Amino acid sequence: MPELGLPPDPHRLPPPGAWFARDAERHLLDRPKFCPMCGDGIDGDGGFSTEYWSGDSRCFMTWCGGCGWFGEVVRFDMVTITEAEH
Ligand SMILES: [Zn+2]
Repeated sequence: MPELGLPPDPHRLPPPGAWFARDAERHLLDRPKFCPMCGDGIDGDGGFSTEYWSGDSRCFMTWCGGCGWFGEVVRFDMVTITEAEH
């Protein structure tokens, strides 16, 4: 009987002591999971999301295999906006 093992972990993290381990962990937690246009899952065969940084912003270049949406999702820690007077 063949040995039954777990499938490879598609989201394997680097060793905890690696200099980028915390960034890799945050990426897995914060990246877009669903397409902002159609709601399909972004993981696996259905697209991808690659993170880069611009100043203090974390930008996720994202493509959806379901509808073809391709764009950027930006994560902020804090936003200051102005509101028109009522
Ligand atoms: Zn989509």
